[in-house]
Amino acid sequence: MNMEARIQGIGMTSHRTRLRLTDRLRQAGIRDEAVLSAMVDVPRHCFVDEALASRSYEDCSLPIGEGQTISQPYVVALMTELVLQSARPAGQLNRVLEIGTGSGYQAAVLASLVPEVYTLERIKSLALKAQRVFTELRIRNVKSRYADGFDGWSDKAPFDAVVVTAAMETVPDSLLEQVRDGGVLIAPVGSHAGVQELSIVRCYRDRAPQVRRVAGVKFVPFLRGRG
Ligand code: SAH
Repeated sequence: MNMEARIQGIGMTSHRTRLRLTDRLRQAGIRDEAVLSAMVDVPRHCFVDEALASRSYEDCSLPIGEGQTISQPYVVALMTELVLQSARPAGQLNRVLEIGTGSGYQAAVLASLVPEVYTLERIKSLALKAQRVFTELRIRNVKSRYADGFDGWSDKAPFDAVVVTAAMETVPDSLLEQVRDGGVLIAPVGSHAGVQELSIVRCYRDRAPQVRRVAGVKFVPFLRGRG
């Protein structure tokens, strides 16, 4: 089935099914209506294998191959909400970098809210697959690359926000340096084996970064080098 047919998909992948998911996210505490409406607009089933499409609007992570997962919708919504909140009341939010493209779903949700999204993935087959989905869904404001996210994307820095969607033991300076003055880096920080703390690091040119921990989360590990 081609992507268009999948977008218009009936039954388990319909618009109504997505509305049910956003009702659940609202109950789970997601308040930002812009985020909820982005999650209604972006067809998550297009980012997973067809065999899993019928489960794509359950609030759970799903395998995407190469031992990786598409994040749970609640976590995508939470991280997106944190990105939007980080720019309020008056800050700018033009350019966001995501580390860990995976399926491309988080990047697509961000792209419906932020003008420029950049995303890096260390596993080539996943990077290529995500690129194909962006093209088929005509998402033109995501630029993606097959590269180790440890080095960030220096040509495009500074970013208003950097979002890491893989678990880091510590946050590297190489990424903090690519956040603009007053911008944020959002990442699950902690050991790969256990639960990590979703942390927001606000970066300043003239003083030490400020760290706030938001929630316990469980992500696949951030690994060095290309896979
Ligand atoms: N954001 C994704 C879920 C990511 S799973 C989504 O919406 O589907 C985490 C991803 O981070 C995996 O695909 C993994 O390969 C990638 N990753 C881990 N370490 C990385 C690194 N150093 N650079 C780039 N990507 C990395």
